[in-house]
Amino acid sequence: MPYLHRAATSQAPPARRDARSIHSSGQSFEQLRQACFRRGVLFEDVDFPASNASLFYSERFPVPFVWKRPGFWQHSEWLDVVVDDRLPTFKDRLVFLHSADHNEFWSALLEKAYAKLNGSYEALKGGSAVEAMEDFTGGVAETFETKGAPENFYAILEKALKRGSLVGCSIETRSAAESEARTPFGLIKGHAYTVTGIDQVRFQGKNIELIRVRNPWGQVEWNGAWSDNSPEWQSVGPAEQKHLSHTALDDGEFWMAFKDFKAHFDKVEICNLTPDALEDDTIHKWEVTIHQGSWVRGSTAGGCRNFLDTFWTNPQIKLSLTERDEGQEECTFLVALMQKDRRKLKRFGANVLTIGYAIYQSPGKDEHLNKDFFKYHASQARSKTFINLREVSDRFQLPPGEYILIPSTFEPHQEADFCLRIFSEKKAMTQDMDERVDIELPKPPKPTSPSQETEEEQQFRAMFEHIAGEDMEVTAEELEYVLNAVLQKKKDIKFKKLSLISCKNIISLMDTNGNGKLEFDEFKVFWDRLKKWTSLFLQFDADKSGTMSSYELRVALKAAGFQLSSHLLQLIVLRYADEELQLGLDDFLNCLVRLENASRVFEALSIENKDFIHLNINEFICLTMNI
Ligand code: CA
Ligand code: CA
Ligand code: CA
Repeated sequence: MPYLHRAATSQAPPARRDARSIHSSGQSFEQLRQACFRRGVLFEDVDFPASNASLFYSERFPVPFVWKRPGFWQHSEWLDVVVDDRLPTFKDRLVFLHSADHNEFWSALLEKAYAKLNGSYEALKGGSAVEAMEDFTGGVAETFETKGAPENFYAILEKALKRGSLVGCSIETRSAAESEARTPFGLIKGHAYTVTGIDQVRFQGKNIELIRVRNPWGQVEWNGAWSDNSPEWQSVGPAEQKHLSHTALDDGEFWMAFKDFKAHFDKVEICNLTPDALEDDTIHKWEVTIHQGSWVRGSTAGGCRNFLDTFWTNPQIKLSLTERDEGQEECTFLVALMQKDRRKLKRFGANVLTIGYAIYQSPGKDEHLNKDFFKYHASQARSKTFINLREVSDRFQLPPGEYILIPSTFEPHQEADFCLRIFSEKKAMTQDMDERVDIELPKPPKPTSPSQETEEEQQFRAMFEHIAGEDMEVTAEELEYVLNAVLQKKKDIKFKKLSLISCKNIISLMDTNGNGKLEFDEFKVFWDRLKKWTSLFLQFDADKSGTMSSYELRVALKAAGFQLSSHLLQLIVLRYADEELQLGLDDFLNCLVRLENASRVFEALSIENKDFIHLNINEFICLTMNI
């Protein structure tokens, strides 16, 4: 019987929410483990075999068989990833893992699970250590160039370390040959260091800012000012030395002046941890809010502000900042926009999209901002760049107030799911601006008596008699004939054909007495509605193409009384628009008739509560067959 256990590690996986099993068998770790026990075999992961499909090459590791159950965070959900113990020999890239005595075996398994989550090891190539850090911790990473760092960089790092964030730093290399080259000051280029402390020391009557850095090799240290045996320490009292835990050990860890740190290191990466990734109850936590969303071609994939016509269709999220930072005028927050699952798609040719975001002052209305707003208002803040990274994150300071955050891809029509996280110093409120559904149905008009009819109305009555025939009622077939004949003659409008089914839908909408046909009064209401819909079509066909683009549709539907959620708009575009994202008048009519039918039924059934109806299966199917 093989030796099986859940390994305890010095670096326990972060606290997990209910984790979702993602093994193809549908079995959890526990079930898979039991199955192996019963059969007396080692677990071999069919989902992620030790073959070329998963990685470049692999071999069995001469290590005791250990089952690991790391928690993984990906896109704001904890996932349990079950892996077997056949490790590929692959360079350990988890140099940022915080534990000083973390063992290589643990991190290699973590990496394997991480690779599985992303499809293959190859999919990891080009991913950065920061991404791995984020996935393991659920945190959000920030990158600073030390030469262009903000004025309060010391304070930023001090807070980060107090929050328990993981902080890494490195010196840039200009060529591969320079990688791991040693500078005269004992620093290694292209090497990932960890920042472990920051403090000040009294020296020659002045406060000197110091920073403690660790070389994960456990040796090779900085040899300049404030290094282990440097003369500066001789004028620091033993109590303060103890406070800074200064010991002259060649353990890879050393102090240096913050000024020298900025001069010698090029890049600092902070992985800000979310509250639930922190094991102990630190007081300096970020407040975190998370939004999941997607950019869908034709409805919410609007591209950046360069594309004014579509930019406004992007998802919009309202951010309310109410509390100022301690002793400050402004509110500090981080915005991290992550595109989801693109690396998993890499092998199918999907590349990481260029993404970013902009932040606007909210005009105080609780609705999706339209094109005109963006034409006349500049953004208050934005991501530093639009860039093809999995995640774009930046730090902002803005006065208290309400803001609209707009995540987007650079180009319009590019599809991806995203996760937007806001880390704020104090509590911040967010609200998705695209979830609201608000429908205003036209009121049924009063029928006019024949004696009051104008000449135009009399002509209309004659037309009706002609269409309806002797029975003075319009059937679906008669409606189909007349609508196709009339609408196909319209100039400036693309119209293919209304089907018999569409005409039956129209009748079901307008047939108030329920006999399946339209009498004069019903037909008249319909004809007015048709005129209104046709004029909306012409009005909102902004580019006069004779068709309604999915973006034009969004405004036209609103004008017709249908304020819909992003999700509904996405469905409508999928169903009614063609490959070029265009709708002809027939598609447009079908869409409106169906929307109005569904809304009327809902209105009739939701007498007690305006927003809810309760249906059993029979009622539900009856309804959907009828709409
Ligand atoms: Ca008839
Ligand atoms: Ca009727
Ligand atoms: Ca158009």
